Amino acid sequence: METKNLPRLIVASNNQNKLREFKEILGRRYEIVSMKEAGIEADIEENGTTFEENALIKAQYVMNFCSQAAIADDSGLEVDALDGAPGVYSARYCGRHGDDEANNDLLLKNLENVPEPRTGRYVAAIALVRPGHEPIVRRGTCDGEILRERRGKGGFGYDPLFVCETGETFAEVSAQTKNAISHRRRGIEAVLRALEEEE
Ligand code: IMP
Repeated sequence: METKNLPRLIVASNNQNKLREFKEILGRRYEIVSMKEAGIEADIEENGTTFEENALIKAQYVMNFCSQAAIADDSGLEVDALDGAPGVYSARYCGRHGDDEANNDLLLKNLENVPEPRTGRYVAAIALVRPGHEPIVRRGTCDGEILRERRGKGGFGYDPLFVCETGETFAEVSAQTKNAISHRRRGIEAVLRALEEEE
């Protein structure tokens, strides 16, 4: 994709799946740059208690490091029968950061005795920070249900267990379909609307 002359935006994440989705969703408006490409090698400590706090911590870390605009997502899955767990701990639900298989296994185990419909939602808080401007933080959500076994090969994280409004899992739908309805897309759209209102 031609990115010349587009404003540069650093994505404050080392998660390649998130980076890909940010590029797919925002790549026509911004030159999306990874932390690595921006020369930042850090594992940013996410010690907030809400998605919004953590998104802001990550975006501000990157902006403070390189004095450029940055965007971050803090996201996760809230399951109603588990009182909102795994929530902000989604990436490390099993005790290890980013072990998707073990996270899915634990989710299935904890929902073993829960009857259908096992409702929940993906949540994404998106924080946009720019030098000299107030931060913009918005939330996007996407409702769905949790299956009893994995279906599909695409996506990442809890996607093989998450059935969205089409009746397919996020691991079965195309990237275009996921990006049209996902929590991340909706959070990013809300940030873009807030930016337009500013102008
Ligand atoms: P974060 O990097 O701390 O925001 O953690 C996000 C975690 O939430 C991921 O590691 C996944 O477990 C889960 N998650 C967030 N968004 C998605 C998604 O779009 N699909 C599947 N899992 C997701």
